[in-house]
Amino acid sequence: MIEFRNVTKSYNNSNHPAVANVSLRVERGEFIFLVGPSGAGKSTIMKLLFREIMPTTGQLFFIKRNIINFTERDILKYRRLIGMVFQDFRLLKQKNVYENVAFALEVLGQSPRKIRQKVPVALEKVGLTGKEKAFPSELSGGEAQRVGIARAIVKDPLIILADEPTGNVDRDNSKQIMKLFESINENGTTVIVATHAWDLVDRMQKRVIALKKGRIIRDEQYGGYATEY
Ligand code: ADP
Repeated sequence: MIEFRNVTKSYNNSNHPAVANVSLRVERGEFIFLVGPSGAGKSTIMKLLFREIMPTTGQLFFIKRNIINFTERDILKYRRLIGMVFQDFRLLKQKNVYENVAFALEVLGQSPRKIRQKVPVALEKVGLTGKEKAFPSELSGGEAQRVGIARAIVKDPLIILADEPTGNVDRDNSKQIMKLFESINENGTTVIVATHAWDLVDRMQKRVIALKKGRIIRDEQYGGYATEY
C-alpha cells in the first residue's frame, strides 16, 4: 500500500540527511513499530507519510500513486485516509471530549446525523463512554490519549500514524494504549507507531523497523526493540 523508494530527506539547515536512502514497503493491514534513538528519523518518516514534508530525493507511493506529485486537492483527500496520534495529544482545550472527537468529522464536512452516530461508537471503542462532557484539563494522560485515538479512528482511516503515543502516559496506560492500537489493527487498519516503549515492543512481537542516523538498520517481521544500536 505504501512504498518508499530510495527516499532521502535533508532539512535545509542541516548537513546530514534526517532520512537517508530509505526503501520500504508497507502492506495493507500491517502493524509496524518504528524504533531508534532520538534523532534517528522516525518523525521525519511520519511527516513524509502524512505529506507534511517532501523527500529531497526518491519516490513515495501510496496505492501506486506517487504522492510527491499530488495536487493540493489530492493531499486533502489523501489525509482523510490517515488518522494521526501525537505524543502531546493536541486536543482542543476549550472543547469537551465529545466535541474534540466530533470536530474531526466536522472539518470533513460530515452531516450532524453522521456525527451523532459515529462519535459514540469511537468513544466506546477507546473506553471513554461516560466521559463525553469532560474537558482535556480534567483528563489523565491515558484518557487524553484515548481521546486522541478516538479522534483518529472516528473518520475510519486506512492508516493510523502514531508518533510516540505513550510518551506522556504512565506505564499501565501505555500498555492499554498499545492494546487499543492492536485491536484497531485487527479490524483491518494499518498502524504505524514510532516509539521508545521498548518493553511493549518486545512484548507485542510485531514488525519492527529500526532506524539509526536516518538509515534502516533492521526490518524484522516479528521483532523486539533491541538495544544494541
Ligand atoms: P526522531 O523522530 O527519530 O527523533 P527526527 O525525524 O525528528 O528523529 O529527526 C531526524 C534528524 O533530523 C535529527 O538530526 C533532527 O535534528 C533533524 N530534524 C528534524 N526536524 C528538523 C527540522 N525541521 N529542521 C532541521 N532539522 C530537523
